[in-house]
Amino acid sequence: MNPCLNLSKPAARPLDTGFRAAWEHLQHFVDDAPPLGSVCLACDMRGYCPRCPAWSAMETGTLTEPVPYLCSISRERYEGMLA
Ligand code: SF4
Repeated sequence: MNPCLNLSKPAARPLDTGFRAAWEHLQHFVDDAPPLGSVCLACDMRGYCPRCPAWSAMETGTLTEPVPYLCSISRERYEGMLA
C-alpha cells in the first residue's frame, strides 16, 4: 500500500503486517506531512493549478515545493479563461 498512486514511499505491506498496521503506517506519514509551502500558499494561480504533494515529490523531491512547469500551465489556464 502507498498513500498515493504517485508516491512509491512510504510503502506498507498489509499482507505481512495486517491491514490495520499498514493503514496506521501510512496515516502517520499523512499526519506528519508538511503544510502547503509559502510560495504556493501565496500564489494567485493556485485555483488553476493541479500541483499536489505527490506531484511536488516526483518533480522536486519535496512534498511542498512549486513545480515550475505547473506554474506555466496554471498561468496558461488562467489566461485562457480570460480570452
Ligand atoms: S505550483 Fe506554481 S502555480 Fe501551482 S500553486 Fe504553486 S506557485 Fe502557484
